Parts: sequence; structure tokens; C-alpha cells
Amino acid sequence: MSKKSVLHYYNDGDLLIFADNTSFRVHKSILKLAAPKLLQKQEQENDLSSINVPDVSASIMDIALSIIYPRYFVMPTWANVDALLSLASIYTINKVYVAGVTFLDLNFKKNPMYTFYLADKYKLSFLFEETSKLVLDRFPKYKEETAFKRLPLEVQSELIARHMNYIHSFANLSVNHFISTYQHKCSNVALHNKELNQEFEFRALSLVDQPNKSPSTVWSMMHAPVNVTDGISCNNQFMSEHLPKMLKDIFGNFKCLDVDKDEENPKHYIYISRKKS
Ligand SMILES: [Zn+2]
Repeated sequence: MSKKSVLHYYNDGDLLIFADNTSFRVHKSILKLAAPKLLQKQEQENDLSSINVPDVSASIMDIALSIIYPRYFVMPTWANVDALLSLASIYTINKVYVAGVTFLDLNFKKNPMYTFYLADKYKLSFLFEETSKLVLDRFPKYKEETAFKRLPLEVQSELIARHMNYIHSFANLSVNHFISTYQHKCSNVALHNKELNQEFEFRALSLVDQPNKSPSTVWSMMHAPVNVTDGISCNNQFMSEHLPKMLKDIFGNFKCLDVDKDEENPKHYIYISRKKS
């Protein structure tokens, strides 16, 4: 004998769902709109009034129905978002899928490694790239998390390779790399060049000294404003066009988080993108 769901057992319901020894009495008309694949399952099983969903826990079915029904406001949590996305993917339940992805979009900064794992599992390309920025920024810490170990080996390898490439790039840092190919637009090239040289020699040396700095720290240090005596527009051009190119030559592409893009000085990160499958 299964027990009845407290939240979703409607007396006028015309369809029973059994999950995890619990019965849910719901409306075919609502399920037809919200989860047509679940209804197809019922039709295939040739039983007019009930569906068995044995691989889903009662609490997950409760939350999924709460998201579907216009009665409660329910947001997924870290504890159930994986199971909800799994249910939503198997039965194409759009409202539950959107609730899961929205939760991750709003909260990924609090749990980047786990969100990255889910982004890979459910093929969420945007979140994959966004969370890879935070994961790679503190990779030695995040690679110890269970979520990293649960990633497919090829995705683990991609993160490790990107991190190793970053670490090895410090060997290519030199003041010459940043300054020597710059085409000045100012009237006192010798002075400006000397000022840039001093500043970037100092910055390059302090990075080579401590190559365990995070990608976002390296980006911020290199992009800190430089004070020059003259040639402000030439200097601005160096900082906004030449410097990012030279930094990219060494470390690869940097991007800020999409949610931070309207901030005045957003942090910039290295990242990986999801391979299309
Ligand atoms: Zn100049």
C-alpha cells in the first residue's frame, strides 16, 4: 500500500503517479501541458489511470509537481537540483528544467565546482564556460572537491590542461614582450617608453617571483592604471589595446563573468568552453 502525497493528491485528479511508494493524484490536463512525455509513458504502459516512475524519489516528485502546479512557489536547492534536472531531462519537463537552470544561474558563484559538474552533465554550455572561469581561478582548491572527481575523465583533463598551460606561461613573461612591439602615437616616445618599461619590468618581475597568483589577479595587476607624465591618449591605447593582446599571447583568452560585465572594473578570468556534441 503506497502512502498519499500530502501536497499533491487532488480529489478531482484523474491520474495516479506512483513514485517511491507514494501516490500522487494529479490532472491529465495539467500534465499534458507540463510533462507530455510522462503522459506518453502512461499511454505506452497501456494503463489509463496510472503511471509508475520508480526511479524518482517521492520528495523530488513533490517538488517537481510544486513547480508545475500554479499553487506553490518552489525554488530548487543544492540538495535537489541535480535530481530535478535529471527528471526534467528524461521527461522533457520544461518548467522544471527552467527552474533548475535558473537556480544555477542565480547561485553558481556560491558553488562553482558543483555547478560546473552539472553544466557538463546537462550540456549547459553557457554555465559551463562561466563556472570554468571561477574553477580555474582557484583550481588547486576546486580539484579536491568531489564534484571534480565525478567529472568525466576527458573534462577533468581539459581543466588540468588549461591550468597547466597557465602555470607554464609564467616562464614567457618579460618586460620586452609587453613593450618592444608597441607603436607609439605620442610625441615623446623615449620618455613614455622609459616609463612603461619601468612599470612593466616591476610588474613582470613580481609575477615571475610568485607564479602561484590566480589568473584574475594577474589580469588585474597587469591592467592597473599606469601614471605617465605625458601622452595620455597614447598610454590609454597601450593599456586598452596593446596590453590585452600581449597578455593573451602569453596566457590565452581572458573574459569577465557575464553577470559582472556592466561593472566598472570586472575581474577577468581564463576559461574553457564546452565541446559541442
Ligand atoms: Zn607613447
